[in-house]
Formats: sequence, structure tokens, C-alpha cells
Amino acid sequence: MPIPLENGDGGPPCWVLLVAIVALLIALLLLWAYQRYIASKKAVHHLCDYCGHMVTAVSDCHHAMVRERFLHGVCLECKKECKLVCARCKRPL
Ligand SMILES: [Zn+2]
Ligand SMILES: [Zn+2]
Repeated sequence: MPIPLENGDGGPPCWVLLVAIVALLIALLLLWAYQRYIASKKAVHHLCDYCGHMVTAVSDCHHAMVRERFLHGVCLECKKECKLVCARCKRPL
């Protein structure tokens, strides 16, 4: 990382760097929040390969609501990890 050469009266770039870092962090945070938002929106419906409908996912153990994670979920009935199945035909998504 280059050390700012100008220091003193010539307009020290220290605070510029700080502002840039803060701006970058805010941008990353917004991006992260946006991705979380998109992910939560997407997670509501899945296209089932078997019945061909946009369906909600349920757990394979209790056919109950799931808190969805990447490629699997947590059954809200027994609070254990489970696979996601189609709410209509109960086949794996
Ligand atoms: Zn289905
Ligand atoms: Zn369960």
C-alpha cells in the first residue's frame, strides 16, 4: 500500500483514504444486504422438476416449514437439518 506522500499544507490525502475506505465498506454492506434480500426473495419459490410448478419448499422429515440455507434447510418442526422437498408432491427439490 503506497504511503501518502503529501503531508501537511499540501492537502493531506489521509482523510481522503479514510473516506474512500468507509465508502467502500458501505458499498460492500449494501451489496451484501441486497444479496441477502434477493436470496430471501428467491428462497420463497422453487421450480419443481417433478410437478413442474413453482412451489414452496418443505422439510423432508416433517413436511413442515423450513428455514432455507444453501442447498438444504433447517426444519422448523424439529429444528434439525433437513433436505428440501416440494410442498406439492414431496419429492426432493
Ligand atoms: Zn413437485
Ligand atoms: Zn423435522
